[in-house]
Amino acid sequence: AFLSNKIAAGEVVERPASIVKELLENALDASSTNILIEVEEGGLSSIRILDNGDGIEAEDVETAFYRHATSKIKTDRDLFKIRTLGFRGEALPSIASVSHLTMRTCTGEGAGVELTLEGGHIQSRQASKTRKGTEVIVKNLFYNTPARLKYLKTVHTEAGHISDVVNRLALAHPHVSMSLYHNGKEVLKTSGNKDLRQVIASIYGRNVAKEMVEVHGRSLDYTVSGYVAKPEVTRASRQYMSLFINGRYIRNFHLARAVQEGFHTLLPIGRFPVVVIRIEMDPTLIDVNVHPSKLEVRLSKEEELSSLITTSIQSAFKQETL
Ligand code: ADP
Ligand code: MG
Repeated sequence: AFLSNKIAAGEVVERPASIVKELLENALDASSTNILIEVEEGGLSSIRILDNGDGIEAEDVETAFYRHATSKIKTDRDLFKIRTLGFRGEALPSIASVSHLTMRTCTGEGAGVELTLEGGHIQSRQASKTRKGTEVIVKNLFYNTPARLKYLKTVHTEAGHISDVVNRLALAHPHVSMSLYHNGKEVLKTSGNKDLRQVIASIYGRNVAKEMVEVHGRSLDYTVSGYVAKPEVTRASRQYMSLFINGRYIRNFHLARAVQEGFHTLLPIGRFPVVVIRIEMDPTLIDVNVHPSKLEVRLSKEEELSSLITTSIQSAFKQETL
């Protein structure tokens, strides 16, 4: 069981940023409204995530570290209508198998629990005075997988990847307050007041946020909302185009092209727009179980969504020039 966790870790936990992503998604799935993320040295020396979510029942804490133990899916049919960010039950066992991990958690009723693990093996369990919510601390990452450790880049690069992950989840969840600190320095802080433009401002700066136009669209199966920067505000990288489906950041070639078609002739060659588009849809129309990273998705009505995205962006610019 421990070996298979380590193998799964190779897929789920590529680098510190993947750990931040998984732990942050868990905090969001637990209905947290406030999440603190503290990393040291690009996450290589320490990652700490503190949330104020539902917590884990004292009798379920160990179970959460078993492979494929998820509280989010109860029947096979649930797999076809996933509303949570996690569902594979792989993250905690994978992360624990390649690190020294401490979890403190409390549901708000009764005492909390503190569990420590090394390489996936439980070292200690004790009662803990914890507020409602969950705290996970990950240290000595990849201490037992030297090849993985060697593959990691500089602190600066890893910190950048972590920043990207947190930025994206903050954009997808403007109703949740998130703070990210790197080596004690504040990198991002969102208010959690639902205002997407404010989150955009804290990530891309006030000047970019000011130049963004609101996008709305609706079809039978999809609702599209968000902001696009005017064509004069462009970037040399696709990095600044963020697409979310049901709160999940996704990468999809066709949808990215649909976004660019919304700008059509307006964009200079080699330049990409700053875009934050949130798509809401019936979860039965999307398959997120394509890859362990859950980044790629399969859509059953991709054409309909593509043209909705394109036309929503086009009409947002038309409104603007009226
Ligand atoms: P998954 O998210 O796919 O269910 P994980 O391995 O990430 O699998 O987590 C296992 C289980 O541990 C979750 O299903 C959830 O019940 C519990 N859990 C993990 N993190 C948290 C958290 N921050 N707050 C509450 N419950 C959590
Ligand atoms: Mg998870």
